[in-house]
Amino acid sequence: MKKNIFFVLFVFLLSTGCAQTETSQSIKMVHSFSHKKGTVLVAKPSIQITNQQDMNKNISGVEPETELFIISNPESMQVYVNKNRRLPEGYAPDDLVEPDISHLSPEGDDRRLLREEAARALEELFAAADQHGLNLVGVSGYRSNQRQTTIYQSSVANNGQEHADKFSARPGTSEHETGLAIDVSTSVIAFALEQTFQQTDEGSWLEENAHQYGFIIRYPEGKEDITGYSYEPWHIRYVGKELANHLYHESLTLEEYFGYHY
Ligand SMILES: [Zn+2]
Repeated sequence: MKKNIFFVLFVFLLSTGCAQTETSQSIKMVHSFSHKKGTVLVAKPSIQITNQQDMNKNISGVEPETELFIISNPESMQVYVNKNRRLPEGYAPDDLVEPDISHLSPEGDDRRLLREEAARALEELFAAADQHGLNLVGVSGYRSNQRQTTIYQSSVANNGQEHADKFSARPGTSEHETGLAIDVSTSVIAFALEQTFQQTDEGSWLEENAHQYGFIIRYPEGKEDITGYSYEPWHIRYVGKELANHLYHESLTLEEYFGYHY
């Protein structure tokens, strides 16, 4: 039993250390390091679960805002944001542009925006979908910290803290604030952001092809305990083609890649 605790502690320390080394800008370095971590996690599933329960206990037992890891590379295309890792106070990307795609939101709306590299990649992805006779529509891209605060607070007020934490992100922890994520949908389901999107032609095409354009399905089915989010087939995140291909072919989430579980 004692041995077990030490091992869990060891894995926990490894996880923490790994999360901090992630601030390196070099994909290659992170890549090989996290690969080692990935093997440990896959080979020892019971350890992984114990570790996660410990982490959850820590999270619920403290004031979350003061315990969140503050990301030091918010401008990186591989920036790793989740419920435990927040963007620095006041961060806003400075290269937001409007991709030339079909948008659901009205002209001039911030939700149309993405960072330039992600926007150009999204245009390619949508053009490819169009060539297959598919009708993807951008629903919600960039979200300012202020708007995320409003969304989160109204979710807490309407549904309670637990529900809010499951379905929306605390301010500073939403990928939409990076300008690298966008929710997409299609007309068959009236542009809804719901799991039935995966059953549409557009949703299944997106799942199989997004990586070719540098995007990942950030919150996949079956990985809810790892990402901390319910399955969201509509939420795609730009990470660049190299990393997107790697994550797709290895069936990894960013949490598994960086070796740090929710
Ligand atoms: Zn989203």
